[in-house]
Amino acid sequence: SVDKERTNNVAKIKVVVRKRPLNKKEMTKKEEDIITIERMSNSLTVHEKKYKVDLAEYIEKHEFVFDAVLNEGVSNDEVYSESVEHIVPLIFNRTKATCFAYGQTGSGKTYTMQPLPLKASEDILRLVHHVYRNQGFQLFVSFFEIYGGKLYDLLNERKKLFMREGGKQQVCIVGLQEYRVSHVDTIKELIERGTATRSTGTTGANEESSRSHAILQLCVKRLVDSSETKPARLVGKLSFIDLAGSERGADTTDNDKQTRMEGAEINKSLLALKECIRALDNDQGHIPFRGSKLTEVLRDSFVGDSRTVMISCISPSSGSCEHTLNTLRYADRVK
Ligand code: ADP
Ligand code: MG
Repeated sequence: SVDKERTNNVAKIKVVVRKRPLNKKEMTKKEEDIITIERMSNSLTVHEKKYKVDLAEYIEKHEFVFDAVLNEGVSNDEVYSESVEHIVPLIFNRTKATCFAYGQTGSGKTYTMQPLPLKASEDILRLVHHVYRNQGFQLFVSFFEIYGGKLYDLLNERKKLFMREGGKQQVCIVGLQEYRVSHVDTIKELIERGTATRSTGTTGANEESSRSHAILQLCVKRLVDSSETKPARLVGKLSFIDLAGSERGADTTDNDKQTRMEGAEINKSLLALKECIRALDNDQGHIPFRGSKLTEVLRDSFVGDSRTVMISCISPSSGSCEHTLNTLRYADRVK
């Protein structure tokens, strides 16, 4: 069928890299932009400054090729069309898709991720109203975070949530608030509310949000009977995940025990995520989702007809060279 063909034409995994502009702080410190991007060939080069034993300076170049490379001039709307837009129609046809923002703290994950579900829900609602008119499709939104391996509802005063193994490879998060939405304005409000709850969660600092994974899910459901007596049935799902700062996974030798434990948890989840995405690509029967809470929560998005988009966010600055190389190597492994 045409639907089936369209589903097959969209790559299972897409890796996009987005470079943000140098910020004031970096410019004040006289840091330089060390990233060049060639959009035509989708290639990106890191110009790493190094020193020889005699302290003579030289540049080591690291070149990478991805599915798309976006420079600092690219708008959020363009990010949407490069990453998620083509997937939206598929979720009416049982596809489960996930879009991740990966990168060190301050690289632009939240800046990149926040507008995407809003644009996606606009498109979903348009399809519900104009293409699938009167076919009983409904849109639901939920928003939660994983912090230290535990789940908290960002749309319900950070209520602690528990996961239950559902039948048929479905994931059930007990007590998670799901809002049915039919207007973009409502989605906007919910996203703003959840984001505020996340960042002010404990101490109110960006410091805190960098240690949690925020997961916003758009679920398309369909009524099984017109009288609405039975609950609507899940058709497809689109998840947006603002991952914990990748550098946090290295906090495993910190003096503070809490920080060390959180660092270990983040490290574990980012490694497990990489393994799950790689397994998806190889079409191995076995997906190692049990490696972490993050991958367990996403289990139903790793089986069946699924799509994954990884947006790797990087700072252009010489001061972030090491973190940037780590981010690009991670993205390269997933690709
Ligand atoms: P992260 O979520 O990865 O910690 P943020 O999204 O909070 O990083 O971005 C850090 C800062 O950089 C914010 O002030 C944000 O507005 C700014 N920023 C990030 N990406 C861009 C971009 N592409 N263009 C302009 N400003 C950006
Ligand atoms: Mg952030």
